[in-house]
This record gives sequence, structure tokens and C-alpha cells, in this order.
Amino acid sequence: MTSRANLIIELCIQIFILSLIGYTLYLTTIEIAIKWLINYRSQRLIGGAYLATLLFLIPLLGTVYVSLTLGRRTHNVPRYPLPDTDDLTEPYECINSSGDLATCAKCNGAWKPPRTHHCSTCGVCRMEFDHHCPWVGNCVTKSRLKPFLALLILTPVVFLVSILPVYGPLLRNIALALKVSQSDPWAQRVWWDWYGSWIFVGGPPGRFAFGIVLGFWILRAERKPDVPLMEQPNLRLFVICALVLLFSLFTLALAAWITKDLVRGVTTLDGIKGRRENQPLRFACIPGARIVAAVPNDERLYDLGFRSNIESVFCTPQPTSRTYVWPKINPSVLERLRKTSESNSITTS
Ligand SMILES: [Zn+2]
Ligand SMILES: [Zn+2]
Repeated sequence: MTSRANLIIELCIQIFILSLIGYTLYLTTIEIAIKWLINYRSQRLIGGAYLATLLFLIPLLGTVYVSLTLGRRTHNVPRYPLPDTDDLTEPYECINSSGDLATCAKCNGAWKPPRTHHCSTCGVCRMEFDHHCPWVGNCVTKSRLKPFLALLILTPVVFLVSILPVYGPLLRNIALALKVSQSDPWAQRVWWDWYGSWIFVGGPPGRFAFGIVLGFWILRAERKPDVPLMEQPNLRLFVICALVLLFSLFTLALAAWITKDLVRGVTTLDGIKGRRENQPLRFACIPGARIVAAVPNDERLYDLGFRSNIESVFCTPQPTSRTYVWPKINPSVLERLRKTSESNSITTS
């Protein structure tokens, strides 16, 4: 797929997500808090606390989301000239046994610092690349893992807080919609008796989810205009809750995956490369000891230990210097390379 087609698809995803955030804000603050809890049920204290909490959480979620979509072509893009390897004194990653540094053919041969990856969707080389996220339409880099994880955790938090006052009536209405749908002759004919309902909308869970949507659709004829939406079977509330629940489960799983990689000192891309069979080998050079050796792709080259890995994401301030700061290499890997080199030289002599 061309990067232009990707750009359009990701723009549509961003509009959809921002609309979902905006509509959730309207539904929770206006329909649930003001019209239902405060005005209809006169629960001013609970309604006020709910309103204040969501007026803080949902705009915060929207702000974090928008911040992650920004800088598609500018954030963490290397702006450093290719260093002379003769000047390097600290161990560094290289691409061959001569100790050469990586360059990017797609970026006119520009230097690709260690842990940099050319993102074909964004069309730029990105330093500290973790993965390209189509949901934010941007690359997620190590320096953006903090807001990215905040987004992943905030999504289920917003879902849990939003659902708190409405889960009882919502579950009752879902049971009612299912009962009405299964007993309605039209719904039976077009959906429940059709074999495709088991297959085409997400298998058995999709059969029941769409059956409930049909039930809400049938019940809409019985809606009373003077009663708040929350007191009646409400298709919109069901659809929004189902969507936000799905997003919440997805973001929780992703947060767990990224945290697992983060504490091991690897990126999502490192994990993918480590599992690929035909991936070109990486090399590490120790200039003082004149050692250049291959490092298998599944060896954690930048793992500095549990604590340092976490600190490097959550506690290290953003570098402000214009000078490139080389990432530190795993001391155990360097030790192994030194020992292998020594035993090789003993065997040769
Ligand atoms: Zn590039
Ligand atoms: Zn990207």
C-alpha cells in the first residue's frame, strides 16, 4: 500500500477516534451526569463528582492522543552527520565485521544511528523506533513510550469510570433487547434463523451482539420523549460502551506487551527481528579492544537491567544537546564478546 493511501486511512482512523472521544464526553457529561443524575434523579453530589472526574479524564485522554499524532515527519528524526569510526572510543553497534555504521538508502545515504529504523509509512528514519501505530498515525519511539502507555492505561480507566453509574440499567436493557429480539418474528427471520449469523459478524459473540442491536432497534418505537435516555433502552449507549470496552481490552493487552518488552530492554521491532529467520546479523564493536563481532538478533544488546531499563523510559530527561548520545550496550554482551575473542586468539596462537 502506498504511503498516501496509508495516510488517508490513518487520517480516517484519527477522525473516528476523536469523534468517539468527543461523543463519549457528550454522553457522559450531558446525558448521564446533567440530564439523568443531577436533573432527573436529583443525585447532585454523585452527579457533580462524576461530571468533574470525566471533565478531567476525557479531555486529558484527547490531549494525550492528539499529542501522539503530532510530528509525523519531524519527531526523533536524526539530524547528525555520519561520524568517523576512528574517533569512537565507546562500544557501538555496527553493520559488518569492518565496524561500519548503518546508513539509509531511502534517506539518500544519511546516517542511521543505532536503534533507528526507516518507517515506510511515515517515510522517514526514526530514532529510538519502537513500532508504527496506525491508531495514532505515527511512530511510537522510546521517548514517546511514556505518553503512549498513559494513553493505553487511560482508555480502560475512562471506560470504568464512565460505566460506573450506568452499568446496572445498561445490563437490564441489554437483557430486555435480547429477549425482544429473539421473540420478534422479523428479527428471527432476518437474523436468528439465518446460518450466516454464526459466521459473518464475528462468530457466536457477534451473533448475540448484533441480535442485541436489533432488539434495541425494535425497542426504539417505544421510546418516551420526556424521559432521559438513560431510563430507556438506548442503542447509542450500548454501541459506544461496546466500542470503548473493545478498545479498553485491546489497549490493556498492548500495555502489557509493551511493558514486558520495556523491562527487558528491547523494542517491539527488536522482538520482531529476533523471531525472523532471515534477518541480517548485527555486529558490535569495542574500539579499545579492537573487537568487532556478530551479535545474534535475539540477544538483548541494549538490556541494561530491569531498573535501568525502566529509568531510561520514565526518569531520563529528554536530551537537549545537539551532540548525538550513543546508547549504552549491555555489559554482559560486551563481556561475552571479550571472552569469545580471547578464547579465539588462544586457539589461533
Ligand atoms: Zn531512512
Ligand atoms: Zn511511522
